[in-house]
Parts: sequence; C-alpha cells; structure tokens
Amino acid sequence: MTSPRRTFAIISHPDAGKTTLTEKLLYVGGAIHLAGEVKARGQNRRARSDWMKIEQQRGISVTSSVMTFEKDGVTFNLLDTPGHEDFSEDTYRTLTAVDSAVMVIDAARGIEAQTRKLFEVCRLRNVPIITFVNKVDREGRDPFELLDEVAEMLQLDVCPMSWPVGMGGEFEGVYDLYANTLARPEGGSREFMGAPVAFTGLADPALADTLSPEGLARLRDEAELAQGGYSTFDAEAYRGGDLTPVYFGSALKDFGIAELIGALADYAPPPRAQPAEPAAVAPEGKEVTGFIFKVQANMDPQHRDRIAFMRLCSGTFKRGMKLTPTGHGKPIAVHSPILFFAQDREIADEAFPGDIIGIPNHGTLRVGDTLSEKADVRFTGLPNFAPEILRRVVLKDPTKTKQLRKALDDMAEEGVTQVFYPEIGSNWIIGVVGQLQLDVLLSRLDAEYKVAAALEPAPFDTARWISAGDAGDLKSFTDINRSAMARDRDDNPVFLAKSAWEVGYVADRYPKVKFAATRER
Ligand code: GDP
Repeated sequence: MTSPRRTFAIISHPDAGKTTLTEKLLYVGGAIHLAGEVKARGQNRRARSDWMKIEQQRGISVTSSVMTFEKDGVTFNLLDTPGHEDFSEDTYRTLTAVDSAVMVIDAARGIEAQTRKLFEVCRLRNVPIITFVNKVDREGRDPFELLDEVAEMLQLDVCPMSWPVGMGGEFEGVYDLYANTLARPEGGSREFMGAPVAFTGLADPALADTLSPEGLARLRDEAELAQGGYSTFDAEAYRGGDLTPVYFGSALKDFGIAELIGALADYAPPPRAQPAEPAAVAPEGKEVTGFIFKVQANMDPQHRDRIAFMRLCSGTFKRGMKLTPTGHGKPIAVHSPILFFAQDREIADEAFPGDIIGIPNHGTLRVGDTLSEKADVRFTGLPNFAPEILRRVVLKDPTKTKQLRKALDDMAEEGVTQVFYPEIGSNWIIGVVGQLQLDVLLSRLDAEYKVAAALEPAPFDTARWISAGDAGDLKSFTDINRSAMARDRDDNPVFLAKSAWEVGYVADRYPKVKFAATRER
C-alpha cells in the first residue's frame, strides 16, 4: 500500500509569509531539523550560481522547487511558486501540476494583487483552495472584514474553521471551531508550544480560566456570529472549488500549522484525473504517464544538466524505466530520477501518482511534454501565455549568432522567455510576461553562454498565435501581414502587433483567422 498523496502549492503575495509557513510545514513534517534552514540553504545555493544573484539582489526567489515531507502516513508534495510580483509563466505552469492550493493572506492586508492573479489561475483549473490568514499575532484587520473580502473578491463561499481571540496586543490564541480546542500563546515569545487545550464547546465554563473576561466575551460573540453568518464546512463544495475553509494563524508563532496540515490530509483532494487526449488519465491507470511542467538549468553548476520536473499522473514509476516523449524523440531510460526531499536530492526508486520526479537530461525534455510507456497519450492544458513585453535582441559580437540562437532556444524551452523569429529582418525578438525575466535572460546570456547582448525596444507590443480552419485563409493573411509575422520556437506562426487594440482591429478584418493569447503545448 502506498501512502496517500497531497500535491499542493502555496499561493500568496510577497511578504504574506509563504517562506515562513513553508519552513514550519517542513519542520512539522520532520523534513528539516530547524525551521530557518530553508532560507539558509537557499542562500548557499544562490551563492553558487551567478544568475541567481538576481534573486539575492531583489530578495526574491526566481526558481521554484519541490519539497516532499510526510506526516501521519500522508506524503505531501509542496511545489513552490515564485512569490515575487513579477511572476512568470513558471508560476502558472507549476499550478497545473498541483491538486490543491493553500492561499496565504496577511491579516493586515487582505487579498493582494499577486494572490488574486494566482487565485484566478487556480480557478481556471478548478484547483480547490484552503485559506490561511497569517500574522494574527500582530494587529490585523477585523476577521469578518477579511472573510467578506475573500467571499466578495474571489466569489467563494467562506467557512471559518478557527477563530482568533483578538489580534496584536490583545491576541489570546486561536480557537478551533470544529475541534473545540484553544491554542494559546505562551512564554516570553508568545508562541504556541504545541499543546492545545480541549473544551466541550464555546459555552464551556472552563474557558474562563484560560481567557481574560474580555477575550472570552469577544470570542463567544464573534464565533457565534461567524458560525451563523458563513457557510458550514462542506468537503464537496471545497473540492469543487466553490468554498474555501479559512484558518487563522501565525506562521511565525506556530499557530494554525497543525490544523493546516490536518486540513490538507483530511480534505484536500488526492491526485486527480488529468486532462489528456484521447481521454483523461486517472491515477489508477497502470501505464506510467506524466507531464513536464518545468525545466530548470543550473541546479548543479558543476554539471551543465537540466532537470525536467515531471508530475506523475498514473502508474508506478520504477527507476530505470523507459519513457517516451509523445510526439518527438526516442524512449529515454530514466536511470537517475530525483525526488526532492527538503534535505537533499534523493535518488528515487519508486514514485506514485501525484509525485514529482526530477529527470536529468541535456535539453531533450521540454515543458509541456508528455512522457509515457507507450507514447499513446498527450496531456493537454499546459499553456504558453502571450508575452506582455517584447524586446529585440541585439548582439554585440556578430560572430556569436549561433550561441545566441542556442541560448534563446534553450531558455524558450525552459519557459524563461519566449522567442520569435521574424519572417523579415534578422533581429530576433523575445517575449516575456514580466520584467524580471528580462534580467534573468541577460544575465544568463552573459554568464552561461558568454554572449554579450542588449535588449532594445521592439516595434511590437504583443503577440498572438494564429490559426485558421482553411490553409488558404492563413496564407493570405500571412502574405499581407508579412512584416508582422514571426515563428515561435516550434515553428508556429505568430502575429506581432503594436498593441492589443491592433489585435482587435486586425481580428475584426480577418474573421476566419483565430488569434490566440495562449497556446497549448
Ligand atoms: P514571503 O515573502 O511570503 O515568503 O514572506 P516571509 O515568510 O519571508 O515573511 C515576510 C515577513 O513577515 C518576515 O519578516 C516574517 O518574519 C514575517 N512573518 C511571517 N509570518 C509571520 C507571522 O505569523 N507573524 C508575524 N508577526 N510576522 C510574520
């Protein structure tokens, strides 16, 4: 019997507490010995790699990783999403590989821009959300106001699972509305020490021995209002993406961590069937299948290998197994798959649906690839997003054209940037969804490929993948608009436009041509 899997991500706005919460989850899961190690390890790793200096300078994490931990017989795979505001497609794609998400919001700030964008991606894919309202040990906004904000902004039913007894200076603990337990701040650090006190309910007179009279009165009033005013917990509604259970806590002071892990274990969905052609793939399927949602270079600067991150969708993967990328390439034998335990990379002998495997390769595996034993399925729904920033790449040393092409192709393959080769003219154009990706590109060109290049404004502002039911319609469109036509890395035709308005204008004039802002790989 394999243990149940919970494959999830944490979505949040920078500074809401994702890193702190991650450390605490790993700590409780026994994956690290001391909370704080995640960041320390991160810093060591950064020091080893040049382009990661950007992360350091900006104090952000550009790379995503996978952390696996176990608790009470459940295996948790936590996929990290970059938390900076300037997110990339990487973040989106990571969310295609999870079955659920934890949304962390800062009690003083509520729903912020980045949280909201990431939430929308989750909604697109029906990824159910558990909400964690963090930092209740500090002054925060009124809990009712926060719940209403989640309900209104995200159009979700909310169900408070716990309730803070005051916040900031008046903070006296967090009451679990379902288990009827109170987690109290203790000692000089006012932390939760891991021993909740049980009560028979909110009416239990013993509560008066633990809470101040004001705190108790407040808890009883507020909890009654909260339980009456919001939805009761409904696991089906949660899994359907219609309801979010809300936990109040403090990652820093350990409040709500055990409850959150418990909620993931008890309610979060196990690995789900994944959309694919010719038919969706259920995790119970015998054939080993999976898809690549991320490719990362430079994890080990000693070896210029890449790691392709595959989410296993069905079957029992065994080390040495041969898997074939659908659509291109020969079978590859996966001799040294990697599982990402928080401590170290470990060589995996076996993996199960919901697990993430790192597959070292030299550029054969690409984001969006399906791998399977028989090469008879293809997972769908891993999108490429229309870039929001386009730049012309200008080479300082014209003899380095080949290196530049290789670098741009490599990075397109990793999903760092997109590259477009115009039909007319020799300057290649790169596209990104966030400014930060431009810095990553330049610094990697320099450090890894020894190519000095500059980025100049491109005469275009956006790009659309075009297609038409009839090849003749497509050809007449591309002939007339040749100066705005380019090919992406996979040779798909792309229309480059000066503005979104222009796209609309042109689309109106060519009703038979489809203009897509995303392209499935
Ligand atoms: P991230 O950017 O979302 O990863 O946020 P971090 O985990 O790095 O936290 C941002 C800041 O908030 C850090 O200074 C943390 O120490 C602090 N922080 C995180 N959680 C809490 C909390 O529960 N209470 C308080 N008071 N501070 C917190």
